[in-house]
Amino acid sequence: MHIDRLGVHESVGAIFPPETLAEQLRSLDPDVTVVGDDVSAVDAVATFGHVEAFLDLEWVHCVRAGYDDFPVADYRDAGTALTNSSGIHGASVGETALGVMLSLARRLHTARDAQADREWAQPTWDEPFTLMDERLTVVGLGAVGRGIASRADGLGMRVAGVRRTPARPPHVREVYAPDELHEAVADARFVALATPLTEETAGMVDAAVFEAMREDAYLVNVARGGVVETDALVAAVEDGVIAGAALDAFETEPLPAASPLWDLDDVLITPHSGAMTRDYYRDVAALVRQNALHAAADEALVNRVV
Ligand code: NDP
Repeated sequence: MHIDRLGVHESVGAIFPPETLAEQLRSLDPDVTVVGDDVSAVDAVATFGHVEAFLDLEWVHCVRAGYDDFPVADYRDAGTALTNSSGIHGASVGETALGVMLSLARRLHTARDAQADREWAQPTWDEPFTLMDERLTVVGLGAVGRGIASRADGLGMRVAGVRRTPARPPHVREVYAPDELHEAVADARFVALATPLTEETAGMVDAAVFEAMREDAYLVNVARGGVVETDALVAAVEDGVIAGAALDAFETEPLPAASPLWDLDDVLITPHSGAMTRDYYRDVAALVRQNALHAAADEALVNRVV
C-alpha cells in the first residue's frame, strides 16, 4: 500500500479539532492535510464518519471503535482498507462507566438535581449503597469492557462478563457465552454493555433481559443505542422491572427532546461523551502513525476491519 498524502477529515471535529490530529501526524512521511468531502488530493484519511468518495482511497481510518455507520461490504468490494480505533477507550469509557455507577449508588445525581433548586435533599436512609461487593456483569470484554472490569474490581465489585470466546481476562471472575445472557445478568446489580453494534447484538437487550434482571439493578449502556430496545427499557424503568439506567448511547443521537428517557429520575443521560478526553487526538495519532509505518513497510495494518 502506498500512501503519499494523508487527510484528516473535518468530521473528526465531532471529537477534537482536526488540526490537532494533523499537527500530531506532521512528522510522518506522507503529507498531512485537513480535508472536507473532496478527498481527491489524498490517498488515505482519518475520519469520524463515512463519505462515499472514501471508497476510492487506499485506506480509511475510523477514529472511533464502533464502525457500525460504515458500509463495510462496500469497503471490501472497493478494496479500500478500513481500520478502527478500538483499544484506546479503556480508561475514558471505563472511568465514565464507574462514574455513573458511583453516581447511581451514592445518589450524586439526585443531589446535583436538588442543587439546581437550592434544595437540601438527603436521600432516604435505604437509597444509597456502596459499589463494594455488588455484582457487575460486563457484556463485551474488549478494550472497553476490560477497562470497566478492572476499575470495578479495584472498587471491590464482583465482576462477571459475557463474550463470544471463553477466555477469562484479569479482573473477571466468570465468563458467560452470549446465549447465557439471561443467566449472566440474573444476579447483577449493574449490567454494563460494551459490545459493538452488529447483527447479533442489535436489540439484544430486550424485555426478556430486563425481566431476567433484578428489580434493584441498573443498566449502563456505553456501547451503542441499537443494542437496547429503547421502548422495552422505558417500560422496564417505568414499571419498576429494573431500578434505572445510565445511558451514553442512543438509537437516535442527539436524543430527541420528546424522548421519555429525559423524564425518568433514575435514568442518567450523558451525550455520547463517555470516550471524550482532551488526549483523544494523541491516542488516535499513535494508531494512525503505527499503521502509516506498517503501510510503508508493506506489513499488515493493525485494527483492520476489512
Ligand atoms: P472490541 O472489539 O475490543 O471488543 C468487543 C467485545 O464485544 C469483545 O469482547 C467481543 O467478544 C464482544 N462481543 C461481540 N459480540 C458479542 C455478543 N454477541 N455478545 C457478547 N459479547 C460480544 O471493542 P471495544 O471494546 O473497543 O469497543 C466496544 C464497543 O463499545 C464499540 O464497538 C462501540 O460500539 C462502543 N464504544 C463506545 C464508546 C462511547 O463513546 N460510548 C467509545 C468506544 C467504544 P470476544 O472478545 O469474544 O470477541
